[in-house]
Amino acid sequence: MERRNAWLTYTEAEEKELEQTALLYRHFLDAGKTERECVSRIIEEAEAAGYVSLEKKAAAGEQLKAGDKVYSVGMKKIIALYHIGQEPLENGMNILGAHIDSPRLDVKQNPLYEDADLAYLDTHYYGGVKKYQWVALPLALHGVIVKKDGTVVDVNIGEAEEDPVVYITDLLIHLAGRQLEKKASEVVEGENLDILIGSRPLADLPDEKKKEAVKENILRILNEKYGVEEEDFLSAELEVVPAGKARECGLDRSMIAAYGQDDRVCAYTSFLAMLEMENPRRTSCCLLTDKEEIGSVGATGMQSRFFENSVAELMECCGCYSELTLRRALRNSRMLSSDVSAGFDPAFAECFEKKNAAFLGRGIVLNKFTGARGKSGSNDANAEYVACVRKIFDSHQVAFQTAELGKVDVGGGGTIAFIAALYGMEVIDSGVAVLSMHAPWEVTSKADVYEAKKAYKAFLLDA
Ligand code: MN
Ligand code: MN
Repeated sequence: MERRNAWLTYTEAEEKELEQTALLYRHFLDAGKTERECVSRIIEEAEAAGYVSLEKKAAAGEQLKAGDKVYSVGMKKIIALYHIGQEPLENGMNILGAHIDSPRLDVKQNPLYEDADLAYLDTHYYGGVKKYQWVALPLALHGVIVKKDGTVVDVNIGEAEEDPVVYITDLLIHLAGRQLEKKASEVVEGENLDILIGSRPLADLPDEKKKEAVKENILRILNEKYGVEEEDFLSAELEVVPAGKARECGLDRSMIAAYGQDDRVCAYTSFLAMLEMENPRRTSCCLLTDKEEIGSVGATGMQSRFFENSVAELMECCGCYSELTLRRALRNSRMLSSDVSAGFDPAFAECFEKKNAAFLGRGIVLNKFTGARGKSGSNDANAEYVACVRKIFDSHQVAFQTAELGKVDVGGGGTIAFIAALYGMEVIDSGVAVLSMHAPWEVTSKADVYEAKKAYKAFLLDA
């Protein structure tokens, strides 16, 4: 059951559409390096396409009807978009789910210190990272600092051409004999992932501040640029991410190398499919969540009531809310829970089982199950539903493949699928294959990005 490489199937017109999709996607990656940035960018693009805030509609007491497009946001980090269909909501929605948080380093609450005339910000990593991959790279600082008076200051340092970057040092090879004997998980310790942010002391300081003159200078710069002081770090969310724009990869430009493709590759292609919908039969929904990388916890993760509450608000605005109709709407929904798959990597072939691995360029990946050690933590999609989804993909000429995440007992991973399945809806894991998942720069195939968007559109149309 070998699956064909999608590149071999394209007409000239399709190749053009593929390149256009890849370009939009790269721009999205550049604009959205944090969950907050992703949400604001999605809102911007959604509003331009005629979506309006559900909260605003509800507050104004306006009724919604088939054809209306609305979005709902939670704490600036999770967003649900709805395009209301002809059929009653009670019959269920076609839902595209994905997550917009990515592995990174978060700045601690009391982060700033000086040592040996160098100033640093202390961090604690977020999500699963190979710590040794995050050193000796240009890094950028994204996020917000919230002052006591409630002012939210946006921070973005390291992306513009003329911006400075920040950096984490590694030990020089000349002195690394003992370091290189260590296990890879210990070569760089999590506590040592501190960001180098300055080395120039401030002159003319009073005696008691002289020993921290570099730190004082950093504080002066932050105060001038953002009007913040050291205590304001207490109420900041600053994320350290690889600096620089998404790039085309390969001499044939067939791939994309960029930070944060897990899972913005599925999030953005799902969103694009939403934008292309016209007059849906069943209500189309795109749900982009936060906190997946740390277990979908918190008020903006999939385990929260955000989605359920937002569907309740939507039904109220459509004049069809009751506790029972809400339960039915959720139970009768169908979902593609999209998250990245491990792309087969010939350099690490021993970790994969080739018949059931995802290959770059062979289209969107369906995972009947995920999980680890006997599928623990997995949503296991029903065979009937898998049949329904593959029929949809086939009828729309979507290139797809099926896979498991690696060989049995080699490892595993989780997604948001099992949480949505709690409502009794049909859910299957799907997504785009990635090389070097969770590394500072991850690689995807443009063909898979394009097939993912086609797959999501087909699903919204026919599921
Ligand atoms: Mn993911
Ligand atoms: Mn991940």
